[in-house]
Amino acid sequence: MSARIIDGKAIAADLRARVAAETRRLTQACGLVPGVAVVLVGQNPASEVYVRNKSRATEEAGMRPFDHHLPDTIAAADLLGLIRRLNGDPSVHGILVQLPLPAHIDAHEVLAAVDPGKDIDGFHPMNVGRLATGLPALAPCTPLGCIRLAKTVHASLTGLQAVVLGRSNIVGKPLAQLLLAENATVTIAHSKTKDLPAVCRRADLLFAAVGKPEMIKGGWIKPGATVVDVGINRVVGEGGKARLVGDVAFAQAREVAGAITPVPGGVGPMTIACLLLNTLRAACAAAGLPPPDPSI
Ligand code: NAP
Repeated sequence: MSARIIDGKAIAADLRARVAAETRRLTQACGLVPGVAVVLVGQNPASEVYVRNKSRATEEAGMRPFDHHLPDTIAAADLLGLIRRLNGDPSVHGILVQLPLPAHIDAHEVLAAVDPGKDIDGFHPMNVGRLATGLPALAPCTPLGCIRLAKTVHASLTGLQAVVLGRSNIVGKPLAQLLLAENATVTIAHSKTKDLPAVCRRADLLFAAVGKPEMIKGGWIKPGATVVDVGINRVVGEGGKARLVGDVAFAQAREVAGAITPVPGGVGPMTIACLLLNTLRAACAAAGLPPPDPSI
C-alpha cells in the first residue's frame, strides 16, 4: 500500500486564500486592516528567513506587517518597553516574538508581557491555560495546522487513538490539548517513554515532533494510520548537499501509513497560514466583531 500524501502546501494555500478573502471583506465593510508586529532580536539566519516569509504572507493576505529588527545587545527592559508599546497600538492586532531570544533575555517574561488578545502565537500563559481548560483561546499555530491536516483525512477525530511524539510547549503539549478538544484519545510520548515503537503502533493518528531525522521507522506505524510529521531537520546527503527531512522515515512510512505529510510541504506551510487565521481572529475580537466563520 502507498499512502495518500497530504499536500500541506495546497491546503495551506487554500486557507491563506480564504483568510485573505475574509480580510478583504472586513476591510471593505468596516475599514479593519489586521496588523501584525514581528519582533526579531539578533541575526539568526533561520529566524530571518521565517520572519521574511511571515511578513510577505501577511501582506499577501491584505494585512499590515510591522517589522521590528533589534540588535542582540538590546536590554531586556527595552524589549519589554517595545512589547508594551505594541500592546497599546490599536493598529497592531497580533504580536509575534521570534524565538529563540538571546540568552540574556528571559523568553518566558517576554512572552508573558504580550497582550493575550494579541498573542497570535498562542504562547501566553493565559492562552495556554484557556486552551487547557477548554475556553476559547488563541492556540499555537503549528498544532492548529496539524489538526487541520488530520481533518483532511478524517472528518471527525472522535474516538481515534492519537499519539503525540514530543512534549514541547510549542508543539507537543498544545497539540495534545487540541486533540483532546477533538475527542481523540491522546497519548503523549517523549524521550523517557518505554518501548516507543509499540506506543506508536497503537496510533490511528501519529504526530511526530521530536526533531530527530527519520527516527520513526515504517515498522512503528499501524497499517493505515495517518502520520503527521512536524519535524524539520537539515541533513547532509550524498555529495555533501543539504536537504530537509522530517522525523519520520518517509519512504518506509508511506508503504504502511494510510496518509502521510511530506517534509517539506506538509506541516511547515500550515504554520504561517494558521498564523494569519489567528491574526484575523485577534483583529475581529479587538474590533468587537464576531469571530471569522469556523468553516474558514
Ligand atoms: P523540542 O522542544 O526539542 O522537543 C522535542 C521533544 O521530542 C521533547 O519532548 C523530547 O522529549 C522529545 N524527544 C527527543 N528525542 C526523543 C527520542 N529519541 N525519543 C522520544 N522523544 C524524544 O522540539 P519542538 O520545538 O517541539 O520541535 C520538534 C520538531 O518540529 C523539530 O524538528 C522542529 O524543527 C519542528 N518544528 C516544525 C514546525 C513547523 O512549522 N513545521 C514548528 C515547530 C517545530 P523530552 O521532553 O523528554 O526531552
